[in-house]
Formats: sequence, C-alpha cells, structure tokens
Amino acid sequence: MIVVLKPTCTEDDFNRVIKKIEDLGLAVHISKGKERTIIGVVGEDAILHSQSLESLPSVEKIVPILKPYKLVSREFKKDNTIINLNGVEIGGNRIQVIAGPCAVEGREMLLDVAQSIEKTGTKFLRGGAFKPRTSPYSFQGLGEEGLRYLAEARKSTGLMVVTELMDPRDIDMVCEYADIIQIGTRNMQNFRLLKEVGTIKKPVILKRGFSSTILELLMSAEYIASQGNKQIILCERGIRTFETSTRNTLDISAIPIIKELSHLPIIIDPSHAVGKWNLVGPVSRAAIAAGADGLMIEVHPSPQDALSDGPQSLKPDRFKNLMNDLRNIANAVGRSL
Ligand code: PEP
Ligand code: MN
Repeated sequence: MIVVLKPTCTEDDFNRVIKKIEDLGLAVHISKGKERTIIGVVGEDAILHSQSLESLPSVEKIVPILKPYKLVSREFKKDNTIINLNGVEIGGNRIQVIAGPCAVEGREMLLDVAQSIEKTGTKFLRGGAFKPRTSPYSFQGLGEEGLRYLAEARKSTGLMVVTELMDPRDIDMVCEYADIIQIGTRNMQNFRLLKEVGTIKKPVILKRGFSSTILELLMSAEYIASQGNKQIILCERGIRTFETSTRNTLDISAIPIIKELSHLPIIIDPSHAVGKWNLVGPVSRAAIAAGADGLMIEVHPSPQDALSDGPQSLKPDRFKNLMNDLRNIANAVGRSL
C-alpha cells in the first residue's frame, strides 16, 4: 500500500511515520515525487495495519496497491523512472542504444567494434564475458579476461559497459567492471540471482524470459526492487511461439502494456528477437515508434566469423546507417536519439 503524507508534513512527522511502519515489521520504500513524498509499505500483512497508520496526524490517506507487483507498478509511482548514469539518462526523452558483440571474443575485436560504435553517438557497449549457451560445448565466454577488455574499451572510448551476470558468485567481479548488469532471458526467474542484484547500487537490465508473461517479468523486477535496487530497465527480447521464420517473436505490444503497468524504462533487443540481421532494422524502427526507451543491438566486425550469434549481428557500417535511420523515427515521435 501507499502512505500519502499531508503536504504540511514536517521532517519530524515523516520520521515518526517511518518509525511506526518499521515497528510494525513492514518494509519502507520512499519515493520522492515532484509534488510530494510517498511511502510504499510492503509486507505480507501490510494492509492489516492500514487503519493504525491512517490515524497518524500527518497521514492524508492510505492507498492499497491491488497489483501483485507493488514497487514497480505505475500505481506506486506515476512518474517514469529515469536512470541517470554519468549524466546519460535511460527512460528520459533521449532513446539510448546499447550496441556491441554478443560475446567478447578478444581484445582487438572489442576495441575495434567499440570505436566504430562510439562514432555513431551511442553511449553503451554490450558484450558477454559469461555466456549462457544452450550447448556446454559452445564458446562459454572469456570470463574475467573478457571483463578486462570491456573495461579497456570503456577507457579508450568513454562508452559505458553492459554485461551479463549469470551466477551470484561472480557479482563482485562483474560489478567491478560493468556500469550496467544484465540478467539474461534464461535467468529471469533465478530468484536468488535477482535478490543479489537487488542489493547492488548499479542499474540492472532484466530481460524477459522467452516463455514468460509480462506479469511474470514484472514480478521478477519486483524481486530486485524489494531488495532496495530500483534502477531496473526491462527488456523485451522476443518470446517463443509457433513461428519459425524468426528465432523468437518480438512482442511489440509489451512496450505500451509495460508503459501502462510500470514506471520502469523498457528497451527492446531486436537481435535476439528476430535472429537475422536483415530484420533488425525494421523491428528497431517499429520499437521506437511504439515507445521503447532504448534498443540493444548486436554488432560484430565480421559476423561470419562470430563465435556466437553471427547471423543476427550487424556489421559496423550497417549499424551506423541504422542509427541515422532511427534518429528520424525518434524525432517523428517527439524523442531524440
Ligand atoms: C545476450 O543479450 O547476450 C543474451 C544472451 O540475450 P538473451 O538472454 O535475451 O538470450
Ligand atoms: Mn547474443
């Protein structure tokens, strides 16, 4: 439920309300909005205590949140969440693109591709050092060596680094190198992992499970938020359907649905959705037109030699052309890129 305080509420009143809620054994989540501060109260029997909280003189009203996800719901917070990373906003007017190879394959290739990406005005470099591969015999990623190359690429280009975390045991190591932590589709319901990233101070990209509903995605985001980390970016990356022409089926309607249900930014990964480089452009344009806050696109200097996901990777020059194209779409819907 949400505790709405009276506009006249002083700092002392505020602290008294917080203490009262904590004494009841409930978790407090403070949200400072433009107009007033509201307190989100989460706990199994939060609603049982609503009367005793409503009787406090500085409390204006108690609003129950009916959805099973609370902190990430639009009911809890009306304003869009904007994540600010070194002055670069995700979820604001500007659409952010995250680009780079599926996996970090080596130092030279990464530095090369990072340089060409940076020239397009892109602010984020992606690359997996720990790869969740279907086959245990496929390339599994370079591990910490890959993370070091990502850090080097950041140093030489200024791009911020997005990379996947698969195992809670690697969290400190990955956080040391990454600016944004990615939770992949296969781990969307790895609740232990979600709770761990809920305790860190870095933004998390949470990718939708390929067989998960939007409700399940939001519940997983709630796992992260419930531990204190509200810097969550949702990512639709295609779901499994009966269609075989594409690797997955992009659920484009997830964008407006999530915008309605949640205040969190939503980005689209067209590459894993379609699985074919020639479809990445049209689907990216559609995503921006539908209101996505960003895109995550795989780019590889020579896709035919890629150790993973070559068929869906764009060559750097094609990526550059796509960025110019997308700028026009962004402008047409009142946003910048
Ligand atoms: C990735 O982005 O590197 C990736 C593995 O994507 P997904 O988890 O969506 O398959
Ligand atoms: Mn990939």
